[in-house]
Amino acid sequence: MLNIHFFTFNAFQENTYIISNHKKECWIVDPGMYEQRETNEFISFIEKNQLIPQAVINTHGHLDHIFGVQAVVDKYAIPFGIHEKELPILKRGADTAAMFGLQFKDLPTSNFFIEDGKKMKLGDDEIMVFLTPGHSPGSVSFYNAEGNWVIAGDVLFNGSIGRTDLPGGNFDTLIESIRTHLFTLPDNTIVLSGHGPATTIGDEKKHNPFLK
Ligand SMILES: [Zn+2]
Repeated sequence: MLNIHFFTFNAFQENTYIISNHKKECWIVDPGMYEQRETNEFISFIEKNQLIPQAVINTHGHLDHIFGVQAVVDKYAIPFGIHEKELPILKRGADTAAMFGLQFKDLPTSNFFIEDGKKMKLGDDEIMVFLTPGHSPGSVSFYNAEGNWVIAGDVLFNGSIGRTDLPGGNFDTLIESIRTHLFTLPDNTIVLSGHGPATTIGDEKKHNPFLK
């Protein structure tokens, strides 16, 4: 059984997740620490819980989801994985930061690719990867059937959906991704999004105005 802890970091109020197993091995999803105090908070959580980071795995490469990648990659000497189609998005990170007047020197490069339909194993536990493009071209969702949750990045939010006006975004593709890969999960599946509070697949089917 996997445990999940989340933080909300940076000016974009981005959710960073830590997935850990009973051996205290963990994956870090979308580390968004920007301020030093955010990095400190993150590191002290890892230390207090004696977690052993194995990899950074990202739902996608937007700026607010990658601010903290290089810091944890360096600190724990772990690899960084993302879908191959996010490489152009990653490369744009420095320019995007400048647009927002933010400093961003530690642009990460990926060490491995996260693949659609792949089962990724953390010890004995596994998560399933779905390619769910539309918000960005290589957005992925991480589904854990046993724990009944999916980390959906910026694809689906509580009462909303990801924006589709950024480079590589497409509204129809996003809706298709949600209907094909998320709305086919059990209704009681908990949706852990890249921003805002958690929700469930059933609630979003009923109430999400973009998916009526
Ligand atoms: Zn995004």
